[in-house]
Amino acid sequence: MEAACEKAGRDPASVRLVAVSKTFGPDAVAAVAAAGIDVFGENRVQEAAQKIPLAPGRLHWHLVGHLQSNKAKLAVRLFDTIHSIDSLKLLKLVDAQCAEAGRRMTVFLEVNVSGEPSKFGLAPEQAPPVLEAIASCHHAEVQGLMTVPPFTPDPADAAPHFRRLRELRDHWQDAFQLALPELSMGMSHDLDVAIAEGATWVRVGSALFGERE
Ligand SMILES: *Cc1c(COP(=O)(O)O)cnc(C)c1O
Repeated sequence: MEAACEKAGRDPASVRLVAVSKTFGPDAVAAVAAAGIDVFGENRVQEAAQKIPLAPGRLHWHLVGHLQSNKAKLAVRLFDTIHSIDSLKLLKLVDAQCAEAGRRMTVFLEVNVSGEPSKFGLAPEQAPPVLEAIASCHHAEVQGLMTVPPFTPDPADAAPHFRRLRELRDHWQDAFQLALPELSMGMSHDLDVAIAEGATWVRVGSALFGERE
């Protein structure tokens, strides 16, 4: 991350790391936490619900995977940040659950910039009603955008997708008078490409924990 920041002429403090611990147990989390990392990511609410109570207590947990409506209540109790808000309904539901729990939560809108049918995320043309609803959400605070580009063997091929997310962010900030400072993009094999395109959060699993089964 530091090398990528240096190459891109960015301050290393402007990019933060989510250690994606999915499929790995609390012992692996504790080992990575002992190395100084304190933000962890999970993609399944149920798995996180089992792991978090067994992990060191001072850690922050981010949900990076798709959230089903019926898990929103539990997600609001487990996570500090949700990267994967992909519908108006889900934004409103998370906002309502946060209000009920008496807390605020940082959330990002997941955007399917490539249009791959197998991917979660809002199509850019579906985003306006969600962007308009942000002002009336007082507990779920939308701070930015997230994307998962199509996998390609050459990480450089992800660059246009990351750039598109940044351009959408710039456009939506102006058009909807919003502050969307965060861009959650980049994983183990393309984090340097994402940092060159403006990532503020990278979500790294296998490069930290090893290959998943
Ligand atoms: C698994 C996962 C990651 C991490 O992927 P790696 O390739 O292991 O770094 C990042 N983001 C999301 C949404 C994931 O599900």
